[in-house]
Amino acid sequence: MMKRINKVFGALLATVLILSVSACKQGSGKKIVGIAMPTQSSQRWIQDGNNMKKILEDRGYQVDLQYAEDSIDAQVAQLENMITKGANCLVIASIDGESLTNVLKKAADAKIPVIAYDRLIRNSEHVSYYATFDNFLVGVMQGGYIVDKLGLADGKGPFNIELFAGSPDDNNAYFFYNGAMSKLQPYIDSKKLVVKSGQIKFDKVATLRWDGATAQQRMDNILTANYTSAKVDAVLSPYDGISIGILSSLKSVGYGSAGKPLPIVTGQDAEVPSVKSMIAGEQTSTIFKDTRTLAKRAANMVDSVLKGEEAEVNDTKTYDNGVKVVPSYLESPVSVDITNYKEALIDTGYYTEDQLK
Ligand code: BGC
Repeated sequence: MMKRINKVFGALLATVLILSVSACKQGSGKKIVGIAMPTQSSQRWIQDGNNMKKILEDRGYQVDLQYAEDSIDAQVAQLENMITKGANCLVIASIDGESLTNVLKKAADAKIPVIAYDRLIRNSEHVSYYATFDNFLVGVMQGGYIVDKLGLADGKGPFNIELFAGSPDDNNAYFFYNGAMSKLQPYIDSKKLVVKSGQIKFDKVATLRWDGATAQQRMDNILTANYTSAKVDAVLSPYDGISIGILSSLKSVGYGSAGKPLPIVTGQDAEVPSVKSMIAGEQTSTIFKDTRTLAKRAANMVDSVLKGEEAEVNDTKTYDNGVKVVPSYLESPVSVDITNYKEALIDTGYYTEDQLK
C-alpha cells in the first residue's frame, strides 16, 4: 500500500517538476516589470502593489515587486538590483521624489523606461510618464469638506482649526496642501477660521514620511499649548494614518465624550482602520483613490512604452519635475464620509462589508 502511494506521489512530483521547469522556460521569455513601492506600513501601497502585479501578470509580464519600508537607500538598492537583473520597465512610487536622479540615469543608460506611480519623481529627465490622481483636487475636496461641514459659506463661525500636511519630500504633499488651502485660506483671512497654534506655513505643518506617531506628537503639543480652555472644531489631515494619530491625541484629552465632541477630521486613502473609525463616528471623512484604477492606468503605460507607442495622457502641463513636464494621467478621487461609504467602497467591490466590521 505504502509503496503504491509512494509511486503515485513520485509520479505526481515528477509531473509538477516538469510543469514548473517548462513554466520557468516560458517565464524567461517574458518581459520583466520592476515595481518599487514605498512601504507596507500603509494598506494602500499593498493594494497598489498587488493590483498591479496581478494585472501585469495577467498580461503576460514577469513582475518583480519590492517594498522599501520607507528607507530611501533600500529603494535605490532595489532599483539598482532590478536594473542589473534585466528589468524591461520600472514602475516607481518613490519614497523621496528627489533622491532617484542617479539610479534613473542608470536605468536610462540601460534603456529601461520609467513610469512614476502616484508620486512624481523629480529632478530627472528619465521619467516617461506619470500615473496619478488629481492631487490638487484631493486637497480641494479635503478643504472643501471642512468649509461645507462648518457652514462657513453660510456665514457661520468663527471656528478653530489646526492644519497638517504630508511629507516634505513627497511632491503630492504640496498639491494636497495647496488644494486644501485654496478653500480654507479665504476664511482664515476673514478670521472665520482661526489657527490658534499659528502654524500655517507648509514647513511648519508638514509630517515627515506621513508618520502617524509624529502627527500625534505634534497634535499633543498643539493641544497643550493652545487648547486648555478653547476647543478645536476642525483638523485638516492629509492622510488616514495621520488622522488616526490626531484622533488618538484628541481622545487622550477627552474629546469624543459627551459635551466635548470630536472635531471634523479629514483623511485620505479610505484605509480600513479609518473607514471603521468613520463608521464609529470618529474620523469624519476620507478621500477614496481606487488603487485598481491607478494600477490599470500604470499597466497601460507599461504596455505602451514597451511597444514603443505613446501612452494615453490627460495632462501635459501640471507636473513639472524640475527638468521637464512629465506627461500624466490624472485619475479622479472621490470624497467619502458616513453618508456614501457603502456606495463608494462596498458597492464597487473595493471592500466587503465584513472587512469593515
Ligand atoms: C499618496 C497618498 C498617501 C500618502 C501617504 C501620497 O503620496 O498620494 O495617497 O496618503 O502618500 O502614503
